[in-house]
Amino acid sequence: MKKAILFVTTFCLVFIPLEAQDYWNTEIISVAKDQETVKKLMEMDLDLLMERNNRVYIIVGFNDFLKLQKENIPYILETFNFYPYKQKEISLQGGINGRYHSYAELERELLALQDSYSHIARVIDLGDSLEGRNIYALKISDNVYQDEQEAELFFVGCHHAREWISVEVPILLGKYLVENYETNSQVKDLVDQCEIWIVPLLNPDGLEYSIHFYRYWRKNRRDNGDGSFGVDLNRNYSFNWGLDNEGSSPFPSSIVYRGTSPFSEPETQIIRDLFAERNFQAVISYHNYSQVILYPWGYTNQPTAEDQLLDQIAADMSGLMQSVNGNIYEYGQAGADLYLTNGGMIDWTFGTYNIPSYTLELPPIDEEHGGFFNAEEDIQPIFNENLPAMLYLIDWSVQNFGSGINPSTRRERRYGLRANLKDKTQYGREARDGREDKATTQNSKLKANEPKTSSIKSKTAGSRSKKTDIRIK
Ligand SMILES: [Zn+2]
Repeated sequence: MKKAILFVTTFCLVFIPLEAQDYWNTEIISVAKDQETVKKLMEMDLDLLMERNNRVYIIVGFNDFLKLQKENIPYILETFNFYPYKQKEISLQGGINGRYHSYAELERELLALQDSYSHIARVIDLGDSLEGRNIYALKISDNVYQDEQEAELFFVGCHHAREWISVEVPILLGKYLVENYETNSQVKDLVDQCEIWIVPLLNPDGLEYSIHFYRYWRKNRRDNGDGSFGVDLNRNYSFNWGLDNEGSSPFPSSIVYRGTSPFSEPETQIIRDLFAERNFQAVISYHNYSQVILYPWGYTNQPTAEDQLLDQIAADMSGLMQSVNGNIYEYGQAGADLYLTNGGMIDWTFGTYNIPSYTLELPPIDEEHGGFFNAEEDIQPIFNENLPAMLYLIDWSVQNFGSGINPSTRRERRYGLRANLKDKTQYGREARDGREDKATTQNSKLKANEPKTSSIKSKTAGSRSKKTDIRIK
C-alpha cells in the first residue's frame, strides 16, 4: 500500500533525483502505463519511481527483472537517462554481468582512463546509438589532442550484442597501452608513432538488452515496425550490401537482417563517418566465438587481389597468439571458410579503403566449450593471447605507413582528403556528455564444406575436427 501511495504522489513529478538509491545493484526501467499493466505492477511490490509521458518508471534489481519477465511486461532500460545523477564512487564492475562491462561500466572506465592518462588517452563521443547511448572511441597516442601524420589503426568490438568478450579485448588493449607506456619501451615507441582508435562497444543498446533481458540478443534494437526488432549491424555496411539473401536477410525477424538500406543504422553510420575523417591503415573487428582470424572477402569465396598479404599477416598473428597459451587461432578468407556474409564491416573497410581488415572471432572454439559464454576468468587469458597480434598489427601499420597495400590508388585519395582534415568540433567535444537463433544451419558453409573445401589453415591439421557449431557469430 505504501508503494501505491508513492506511485500516486509521483504522478505529476517530472523528475526525482536519485541520490538516495543504491545504484549499483539497480537499474531504472520504464513500462507503458496502461490499466492492466499498472494493476500487475501494484501486485509486484516494485519500487515505483515516477510517471512521465504515459510511462511508469521503476527502480529494479535482478529479481524484479525476473518478475517482469514472468508477467510478460515489456520494458525499456532507462538507467542511462539518469546518468548524471548516478555518478558515485562505486566499483567499476559487478552486477548480473559480472566482470563483463555494461554500457555504464564501460563509460566510467573509459573516462577514468582519460583522467588518469590524459597525455596519451582521450575519450571521444562519436555519436549516439539508436536509443541515445553514446558510442565512444578511446584514442591513444602521444600528443593525443593533435591530429598528427601518423599511422592510424582501428579496433572495434561488439557489433553483436551477445558477444560480450568482444568488448573486453579492445578495452583491455587500451588499458594495456596506457598503463605500460612509461615503463615499456616497445609500447612507448608504438604509441608515439601512431594513433590507435578503439571503439569497444559499437552496439550498446543491444548489449544492455543482452545483459538485462535476453542473453542471446545479437542485433541492435531497431523497431522494424512489424513486431520484430533489430538490424544486424555487421550486415548493414554498404559494400555489396544486400547482394544476395544468403549472406544477409531481407526479413526483419532474421538474426542477420541487413536493414532497409546500407548504413541505415546510426551505429554503422558512425563507423562510416569516422573512416571518412580518419586515415586508418589496418582494422580488427572483434567477435566471438570460433577462435579464428578471418579476412575479406566475406561476400564470395573468391580471393581478394591482396590475398597473399592478408593471409601472411593472419599467419603471423596466429603464430604469435599460439605462443602465449598454446591456443590455435586458425585463419583464412571469411567467405571461403565460414559462411558467406554481405554488408559486413571488413568487406567494406577493405573494399573501400584497401587496408588489411580482419574479423577476429575470439574463443571459445565451439559451443561445447561455452559458445557465447566465456567465464569471467577467461577474459584476461583471452586478452593476453590476443595482445601480441594487436601489437604486431600496430607495428606493421607503423612500418608501412604511407605506403599502404595499394599505394597508387591510396595516396591521392587519402592524402588529398587528409589535407583538409581538422580536428573537427564533433571530435573535439570531450566525452561528457527474442527469439532467434533458429534456422542458421543452412548458412554455415564451414560445416557443410569442411571435409573437402575448407581452407582454414592451422599448424596442426585436423584440430578443427569437432566443428559441431552452427550458430552465426
Ligand atoms: Zn559477431
